[in-house]
Amino acid sequence: MNGMVYLVGAGPGDYRLITLKGKQCLEKADVVICDYLADKRLLAFAPENIEYIYVGKKAGNHAMRQEDISQLIADKAKEGKCVVRLKGGDPFVFGRGGEEAEVLKQNGINFEIVPGVTSAIAAPAYAGIPVTNRKVAVSFAVITGHEDPTKGKSDINWEKLSTAVDTLVFLMGVGNLPHITGQLIKYGRSADTPAALVRWGTKAEQEVLITTVGKAAEDVIKHNLKPPAVFIVGNVVNLRSTIQWFDNKPLFGKNILITRAREQASRLTEKLEELGANCIEAPAIKIAPPDDDFTSLDSAIAKIREYDWIIFTSTNGVERFFARLNEKNLDVRALSRAKIAAIGTSTAAKLKNYGIIADKVPTMFKAEGILDVLKEDITPGTKVLIPRAQKAREALPQGLRRMGATVDVAETYCTKMADTNKAQIKNLLQNGRIDMVTFTSSSTVENLLKLIDNEAALLNNVKKAAIGPITAQTCKQKGLDVDIEADIYTIDGLVDKIKNFRG
Ligand code: SAH
Repeated sequence: MNGMVYLVGAGPGDYRLITLKGKQCLEKADVVICDYLADKRLLAFAPENIEYIYVGKKAGNHAMRQEDISQLIADKAKEGKCVVRLKGGDPFVFGRGGEEAEVLKQNGINFEIVPGVTSAIAAPAYAGIPVTNRKVAVSFAVITGHEDPTKGKSDINWEKLSTAVDTLVFLMGVGNLPHITGQLIKYGRSADTPAALVRWGTKAEQEVLITTVGKAAEDVIKHNLKPPAVFIVGNVVNLRSTIQWFDNKPLFGKNILITRAREQASRLTEKLEELGANCIEAPAIKIAPPDDDFTSLDSAIAKIREYDWIIFTSTNGVERFFARLNEKNLDVRALSRAKIAAIGTSTAAKLKNYGIIADKVPTMFKAEGILDVLKEDITPGTKVLIPRAQKAREALPQGLRRMGATVDVAETYCTKMADTNKAQIKNLLQNGRIDMVTFTSSSTVENLLKLIDNEAALLNNVKKAAIGPITAQTCKQKGLDVDIEADIYTIDGLVDKIKNFRG
């Protein structure tokens, strides 16, 4: 029984530029075969245990011959699997997708083509250069820049091409610019024609070089611009001065290390990336079941209807509490008798996902402040449950007990060291490739230091951003100066401070 092959365009670089259909194909894949232009983050859309085969090729370094790749795709499909062949940009734009489809046809294998956003259009777009424009360009062409100039005969009709089309976009042309621009000029395109190179378009590392046809080859060497890049020729290049929108974002070009647990990092990453940053997720910690194996939480759940107040202190606490509650075949109705407090607006928002509107939402993170907000609700004899992290400060339960409450603390999770690629992170720090590190709790500070073998000096030239005063204090205790401290102790508050930071 033959499987199915999807030849999927992965988009130009930013993994979010894959199509909805492309994502759906990944979601049902058994095997993903991918080359070097495809972003690893796309793989997160695929089920966890898929077979992943890298057949990437870079100029001059062919990982696998094209015939072998085509055969591999066919063979995997013959095993009855759902194969996603992921290709940078669009599979049919210089992607050899056509050749792969031919082989599949010859082997009698079903396939579908899922077009993608091609770099030929998207890389210029992310540089603020539209390939057409009513006043400036009514036609565009996409051309290979890879033709071997020594082979004598060219398949490109330079004579007609050079002046017939308003906007020319060359792919794979960086190493061949003297030949390309020479031909264009020889066949009548003015050497003064505006031109641009866009390297790693749509990605945080995007580089744009504005030049002219006459100067391009020289400028590329001067600026040491490397592949992959598109080379754009035409008056549309001038529009960048008005339309530039991506590589002038406030955090563009900044490399930010995110130390949050992977389970929670995505929102911070997403927000910083929206502002143009390049985020490197190096979760120093991961969320794990508590060491007491839920003993304290289970006994609290067993008498859940007795509590007058339940105080949730973190989004993780909320998630883990309800996960366990559901495992016991109970749902939110078990809490109907209790009043609910959420510390911080994020915790309150998380509770809302479970259908609960918190009765009190203290937004200060110090126990004294929280106690102050709750002082009218807690009277002698009030029964309080605090589902929270295993390692947390005792000030809150102690304060409540002083107010006469009976307090149970239930451990819902603990944070453990994550299996992050330590060598890679240390390497980035040693080479000055990280501009900023974010700390979203005291344990992220402690754990990052552990991750880098306590070599705090590696962080000397890195800006440190802390989510609030307690985290900042931990930084200071560990000898790290804090450059940024959020005023509002939430992810949004932190992002806002980072955005406005100049230094
Ligand atoms: N099928 C792909 C093109 C493959 S050929 C597509 O539709 O985009 C590979 C060439 O594409 C590279 O040499 C480079 O010229 C271009 N390219 C691919 N991704 C790019 C990116 N993010 N930025 C700039 N150029 C890119």
